[in-house]
Amino acid sequence: MIKKLFLLILFLLVGLVGIIGYNTVTNTPADPPNIAYSPPEIDKMAAAERLSGAVQIKTISISREAPVAAQEFEDLHEYIEAHYPNVASQLTKTRISNYSILYKWEGRDPTLPAAIFMGHMDVVPVEPGTESKWEYPPFSGKLADGAIWGRGTLDDKVSVFAILEAAEHHLKSGLKPKHTIYFAFGHDEEIGGENGAAKIASHLKEQGVKVAYTLDEGMVVVQGIMPGIEDPIAFIALAEKGYLTLELVATADGGHSSMPPRKTAVGKLARAVSRIEQHRLPASMRRPVTDMFDTLSPHMPLSLKAVISNRWLLDPILISQLGKGGATNAMVRTTTAATIFNSGTKDNVLPTKATAIVNFRLLPGDSIQSVIDHVTNAVDDPEVEIRIKQGNEPSKVSEHNNSSYGQIKKTIHEVFPDVLVSPGLMLAGSDSKHYEELAENSYRFLPLRFGKEDLGRVHGTNERILIDNYAEIIQFYIRLMENSGN
Ligand SMILES: [Zn+2]
Repeated sequence: MIKKLFLLILFLLVGLVGIIGYNTVTNTPADPPNIAYSPPEIDKMAAAERLSGAVQIKTISISREAPVAAQEFEDLHEYIEAHYPNVASQLTKTRISNYSILYKWEGRDPTLPAAIFMGHMDVVPVEPGTESKWEYPPFSGKLADGAIWGRGTLDDKVSVFAILEAAEHHLKSGLKPKHTIYFAFGHDEEIGGENGAAKIASHLKEQGVKVAYTLDEGMVVVQGIMPGIEDPIAFIALAEKGYLTLELVATADGGHSSMPPRKTAVGKLARAVSRIEQHRLPASMRRPVTDMFDTLSPHMPLSLKAVISNRWLLDPILISQLGKGGATNAMVRTTTAATIFNSGTKDNVLPTKATAIVNFRLLPGDSIQSVIDHVTNAVDDPEVEIRIKQGNEPSKVSEHNNSSYGQIKKTIHEVFPDVLVSPGLMLAGSDSKHYEELAENSYRFLPLRFGKEDLGRVHGTNERILIDNYAEIIQFYIRLMENSGN
């Protein structure tokens, strides 16, 4: 009997190993695409000069309450019209909320759903006190060391001006895209996009415009972040995480600290925050993160490939490994971050109130309500009130097995023959969320080549773009304008 059982277990184990092995071995990369394309020569120094000029116009978004940098946006509009005369004369321009720009470039077949190429013209301020740490002043647009320096060179005047360069290139030679292409340049992305992108989207909706896809800033080309993959990877984000800020409020009787009650407001709140940290939201593998692993696993080393090729069995191992990292944890769960804790005024006075702020970034599939339910259960204290301070739901997850994604992917392979292309999940937010209802699919990708130190330049010190990379980005849009809609 025992012998039979032993044989049965052995048989099952061998079978299992066989399946795991088979799935691993057959998970091989697709043949590399056959590329017969060479990008057109462009005058990259002249293009760099034009971006430099745009960086010098201080279109800063400070806060929702602060006034718009009206004169600077007017100047930028004029600058665009002066430097991109064919765009100005051949495309239809609509001003939205005074300062955002919508250009329409009618396609050869206007009945096809359109594409929208997005970018934002506003930039974040330079943190006071950090100006002197810049190699070149942040609004100098200095051309030095093979780069263009200043605010907006990565986020996101680069998109706006690379799109304009590409359009000007084609308009000079009379190209008409297959389907209609819009350029949507917001003026308030850095403070939420409510007057820019949101209004552009509702304008297009009112006009009954059908949109196949939007392409916006988001993920980039990175190297050395996926274990065992040496080639640079272009991540096209299919979704972005949601955003939720909760305020926790604990109240108690005030009075003198010489005769305190058993539970103080501070104690109740501390317990609540601690319980929220102990009860993180559960981790899980969902699209688009599963799409990413399915796409990249054939290129990974054997051990990882074995796990990812057998997710039906080994998902728990994968999830627990990913949950240990910082960035990888953020890909598999709604993250929790307690950021503000406030109470008390005097060392011998009992505060009547204590408040804390906790910020969550929601994984697609979770919702504001599901997070609030989870937090309410975790806190499990009717004396702690939970209020929403700010929130937007995670985006929907766009498709990657369709022609729109295929056109972007093909364009990347043509212009960047050295890179792999993969779906991804954007951990931060973008203007794309405002197009959710309008566009069938929203993609968030800009072919910036990022090294480890470059992430800190975005919204940080020494923001700059290499001129060679800027030229590649222009070539990417040039080619995409030819490929899009086909
Ligand atoms: Zn941006």
